Amino acid sequence: MSSLRYTRALAAGCAALRGVARQQVRQSCNTCTNRRCLSLAAAAQQQARTKISQTPANAVMSATRTSDSLHLVFGDGTSSDLPYVWLRDNCQCAQCFSEGALGRKLLMQDLDLNVKPALISESERGVTVEWTDGHYSEFTGEWLYDRAFTPTSRTRRRHQFAYTREPWGADHRLPEYDYERMMKDDKVLLDWLITMEKKGSAMVKNAPDRDIAGPELIEHIAYVKPSHYGPHSPVINRPESNNVAFTNAKLGMHNDLAQYEHMPGIIFIHCLKQHIGTGGESVIADGLLAAEILRKSNPDAFHVLTATDAYFWDKGRANYSWEMPEFYKISRHPILTLDSNNDVCRVSLNNAVRDSFLDLPAHKVKSFYAAMKLFNDILYDNSLVFKMDSGDIMTLDNVRCLHGREGYEALSERHIESSYLDWDEARCRRRRLQEKLGANDRK
Ligand SMILES: [Zn+2]
Repeated sequence: MSSLRYTRALAAGCAALRGVARQQVRQSCNTCTNRRCLSLAAAAQQQARTKISQTPANAVMSATRTSDSLHLVFGDGTSSDLPYVWLRDNCQCAQCFSEGALGRKLLMQDLDLNVKPALISESERGVTVEWTDGHYSEFTGEWLYDRAFTPTSRTRRRHQFAYTREPWGADHRLPEYDYERMMKDDKVLLDWLITMEKKGSAMVKNAPDRDIAGPELIEHIAYVKPSHYGPHSPVINRPESNNVAFTNAKLGMHNDLAQYEHMPGIIFIHCLKQHIGTGGESVIADGLLAAEILRKSNPDAFHVLTATDAYFWDKGRANYSWEMPEFYKISRHPILTLDSNNDVCRVSLNNAVRDSFLDLPAHKVKSFYAAMKLFNDILYDNSLVFKMDSGDIMTLDNVRCLHGREGYEALSERHIESSYLDWDEARCRRRRLQEKLGANDRK
């Protein structure tokens, strides 16, 4: 190679090397810039995350007007349409709502179904609405978020109203509670209240040997629900008894006081003295489970029990001074009552007080009996049989679970006392205890 060619080659090589070097520098700079961009993006994301985590879930992030609703986006990213008529109906101003009574003052006759906002302004703290009629409403984000028409909000309120019932069968074991602990420890009482809503059944152990121990426990929770048998009734073998329960005969499984339109919610069956020897065993079953088995296995029979009104009646005179001197009850309802979701919300089966009058055409009578008998068979197929100990109080959801007893020898002493508590009062106590204890079991 000549020196000239060598020099040119060297120059070209150097140029190529410089090009590579420039490229490397450029790449290096790009990498550097990219890294910087990435770190800025990460920081922004982190900042956004921090902002989101700092923003309360119930903060109002945006409010958009639609034709008949206000569309809100909350701090946790959830959103909901809030119909104007609902917002106006729930105006929280002193003219429309009583802060002291927590009740609506606005009258239905004064509510305009087509009410529209003239002006909306929102901030993280809430929403203010000026309506076309000049009325002015303010809502906090917390108030709106709690009541928004979102699945979360609707489910939360549904559970605050009542726990989901959990059906049980023959393998069920009654959860046990100690009487004194229920009286002294609110946490234990709350646990019992929740168990009763879910399972509709529990056993309270070690009750004092007093005939009013059941009513005393009920009074600790709320109020005794009295009946024409008084605030509590001795279920003993009474001479000239005014109810077949007050004998020593076998009692088929039943719900108490089906002869009442408003049947007692929870029954407290206190065993003060248990019969010695055979007989007197308790038998209980979950009417909810039996109803669902019937619904699946025989929809026609299920329909008959939900669509046929039965009469229940109870006519008599007092056995004791605390009973109503003369009574004559008649109630009318299906054996299985359905709510608006087609869920069974009341079971009322009671062979003793079921009336001989049937408001049915004759050709429908036999299918009604067939359906009742089938339901009764399912109940017994899925029942528990056990003997209560002296000092036990069996508590049952009386509009869901059924109880009965085997017959027993009349010569042996057996003393049961029954008393009642209504569901309104039980759930009321549960909600207040949850607030007091800061406990919100949402299972
Ligand atoms: Zn108002």
